[in-house]
Amino acid sequence: MPLINNKHVAKVIAIDGPSGSGKSTIAKELANALNVLYIDTGAMFRALAYIADEQKIILKEGAALNEFLNSLKIDYGVSESVLIRINGLDLSEKIREHHVSGLASVISQLPSVRKYLLDFQRSLALDKICVMEGRDIGTVVFPDSFCKFFITASVDIRAERRLKQLRENGDDKITLTQIAEDVRLRDETDMNRSVAPLKKADDAMLLDTSALSMKDIIHMLGNDVKFRAAHLGFNL
Ligand code: C5P
Repeated sequence: MPLINNKHVAKVIAIDGPSGSGKSTIAKELANALNVLYIDTGAMFRALAYIADEQKIILKEGAALNEFLNSLKIDYGVSESVLIRINGLDLSEKIREHHVSGLASVISQLPSVRKYLLDFQRSLALDKICVMEGRDIGTVVFPDSFCKFFITASVDIRAERRLKQLRENGDDKITLTQIAEDVRLRDETDMNRSVAPLKKADDAMLLDTSALSMKDIIHMLGNDVKFRAAHLGFNL
């Protein structure tokens, strides 16, 4: 990690925010525009939750959970089509199923799960600049990242976006009201958990995407990243 003015600075563009805020699309498009690696930490919590559910692991701290975590081998960003694998099993599509969102929110409250993924996430960001997206990247995983954004949008807008996504994935049963309720509940759990709650880092730029176009957002954030990178002498 480079040392600038006697302070470590991580070459990580940290993008945090609640579900459906548009942060995934922003993180992906920004990484694309800057031609840097994109890391989706939500996918890791989802994958762990999916496997734990399959193996009927009881979600509480203790020896069984530690044994479960020690049995895992995660491969992230395997190829264009394989985002995440656990113990050789491709979970890239399964983790997008609606019920996995709730499971991920539950498992992410467990300190040993967070510690396990924190180490994994830190190991992925090395010398090159990357975009890392999640809930606690700017506050806990890389509090010394050189660029931080906190993305948000109104609950109604976020629920509508999520509905569209689920419809595209073939779920035609769930209603907008149900989704809005899930979104509210997940925010509450994510913001109120005792370890690494969802919150804006003091030095993060806050962006409400309810009324902004994706093109404008990427342009704005891209300029900000380039300005900061040039100032610190980072190659982009
Ligand atoms: O971002 P995504 O909706 O895929 O994340 C699924 C769940 O994983 C979130 O609701 C949150 O509980 C958890 N998560 C987390 N910390 C992160 C990323 C995701 O707690 N850095």
